[in-house]
Amino acid sequence: MKKKICLLYGGKSAEHEVSLQTAKAVIQALDHEKYDIYPIFITTEGDWIKGPLLTGPVETVKQLEFRDGKKMAPNALSTTVSGEKGGYDVIFPLLHGPNGEDGTVQGMLELLNLPYVGNGVLASSAGMDKVIMKNLFAQAGLDQVKYVSFIRSEWENAPETCFQQVEEKTGYPCFVKPANLGSSVGISKCKNRTELEAAFKEAFQYDRKIIVEEGVTAREIELGVIGNDDPQCSVAGEIVAKKDFYDYKAKYEDGETALIIPADIPEKVYKKCTEAAITAFKALDCSGLVRADFFVTEDERVIINEINTMPGFTPFSMFPLLWKEAGLDYPQLIEKLIELALERHAEKQ
Ligand code: ADP
Ligand code: MG
Ligand code: MG
Repeated sequence: MKKKICLLYGGKSAEHEVSLQTAKAVIQALDHEKYDIYPIFITTEGDWIKGPLLTGPVETVKQLEFRDGKKMAPNALSTTVSGEKGGYDVIFPLLHGPNGEDGTVQGMLELLNLPYVGNGVLASSAGMDKVIMKNLFAQAGLDQVKYVSFIRSEWENAPETCFQQVEEKTGYPCFVKPANLGSSVGISKCKNRTELEAAFKEAFQYDRKIIVEEGVTAREIELGVIGNDDPQCSVAGEIVAKKDFYDYKAKYEDGETALIIPADIPEKVYKKCTEAAITAFKALDCSGLVRADFFVTEDERVIINEINTMPGFTPFSMFPLLWKEAGLDYPQLIEKLIELALERHAEKQ
């Protein structure tokens, strides 16, 4: 029997376009003999639109934007498969950022008792909030940069106190980030008080909570992790950005960033990264997949920066490329993630 797989993509987030690219690639890679593919397009306004059953590969992402299609209620997922009886066998949320990677969609899928690919509610939401994530990492004994966080009202009521706290706790240079975003949106690097003031203003436009971190000079090393109870690490990759830091433009627009796979790091450093990646995976109770991102300093200190519970997933993104190097190509990786989703679902029943 063919499996009915439902792809959720697009989404009300800054990474809408990236998600569409991912959906196209996943549809290309899935074996149409084995799977019936049902697309659901989420518009930038947050409307859910059910597309038709896809019987072959798609040529362009435009074909996946069913803008004039029929809207559906998200919770209709459990019943709607082209008017047939019975729900989908598995849901694959190809969504990044808030309203997709943050546990909201996962919570709905839990309520509907549907198997889905990737992290559950807790890991998704804890991973989306950089402050909660870092607090959990700290508790697990992971090495991190110094950090301090603020909510908007603290800043509005006593800005001077906030800035002083930053100067005491992290000093300059520091990075100011909205707590709940990805793709470097709203992030600034600050070298002095004037820049810090502007950075607070900028970051608070995106979130009511921000994090300020000590800036480090280091290489950026990333690892893929897949699994449920027994997670495994990929090889390591390195990001070499030509810019001051790996910002949104460098990530998606310039192509000015080189991904080096495998990263040229000593075995000892790689081992430290794998241990930290697994500790981080367990600290947030992850399942399915994560990409663990590190700063590695000249004196070989391995500092965890973050984990991403739905990392970039086009065939040219770091996560699939790391697994390809480890011997699992894009179609095999997708198959593996579907298997892990079904395994986790079966264990819950
Ligand atoms: P996002 O979740 O948006 O990817 P990150 O925390 O990974 O946010 O920050 C984006 C980029 O900013 C990193 O890849 C890195 O280049 C730079 N960066 C972030 N924090 C620091 C830091 N504490 N020290 C040095 N560089 C940093
Ligand atoms: Mg991130
Ligand atoms: Mg990052």
